[in-house]
Amino acid sequence: MIQCPICCERSGLNLVEVWKDYKFYNCSVCDVVFSDPMRNPGSGWYEESEDYTFWRIFGQKLEWRHKQFLHDRKVNGNYLLDIGCGPGLFLHEAQKMGYTVTGIDFSREMIGAAKERFRFDEVYPVSLEDFITSHPNKKFDVITFFEVLEHLDDPNSFIRLLKSCLKPEGYIALSVPNRERFLEWMGEGDYPPHHLTRWNSSSISRFFERHGFEIVKMVIQSLDTEDIERFLKGKIRFRIAYSTIQKGMTSHNEKLINYAAVLMQVKDYTFKGIATLFIPFLKFLKLQGTGIYCLARLKPIESGAMP
Ligand SMILES: [Zn+2]
Repeated sequence: MIQCPICCERSGLNLVEVWKDYKFYNCSVCDVVFSDPMRNPGSGWYEESEDYTFWRIFGQKLEWRHKQFLHDRKVNGNYLLDIGCGPGLFLHEAQKMGYTVTGIDFSREMIGAAKERFRFDEVYPVSLEDFITSHPNKKFDVITFFEVLEHLDDPNSFIRLLKSCLKPEGYIALSVPNRERFLEWMGEGDYPPHHLTRWNSSSISRFFERHGFEIVKMVIQSLDTEDIERFLKGKIRFRIAYSTIQKGMTSHNEKLINYAAVLMQVKDYTFKGIATLFIPFLKFLKLQGTGIYCLARLKPIESGAMP
């Protein structure tokens, strides 16, 4: 019998989607949508996935979610841990804000890139569990994990582990894809083995409150030009640039590769231009965009309460 992997409830699970060998259920108690089966493919899979490595290294820029944290007032305390730190751009900005930063990531390549570019001392290619085992006395004032939660096959264990290295009344900051976004552009990237759970603001609040946090801030990204751009790019594919690049690579023809890069840029600018035309409408309609950002604080344990 199926059980909700988040709140362990067995009744009130509503089938919302069937995709390949997976079924998606919405739990009426905790409001999470989860895939059944729910299995994380492991760090090796991610490390071998060229798409992940390519985009996380070359597509590196400060995202909306990072700016939500960086543009806020600094939280009390200095020690920050970023889980899934990638090539370290966010950590670098957090360091500039005055945090003493530590980062972990499953990928050796990302950690190598972060070390090389920003000269960090405290970045490690390990899981949270291994990090805690090798640094049992490290405690943090704030732990960030952007776009991590939806990949986990056991979010409850992850949060318990995370709490073991968070100081009393410490903060967490995180982001997840918003399942109530107006435009769907993620395609297979939003399905297993990539994403195993889907969240909205209510399920995020319930989940972290059950783990003893109080929500300090919750922001739903509004639909913007980037959503439209990505949506159009997903729908309209001429494959000209892609096939030109392949031809160029196989024949080692640099001219062809450069030509493909120009084609890709022209496509980007065209879609950006089209998307920009929609801005006044979007502002008026107040539609939901792709991300949810949440800042929460660990509540002090009340005397007499169970730890
Ligand atoms: Zn549930």
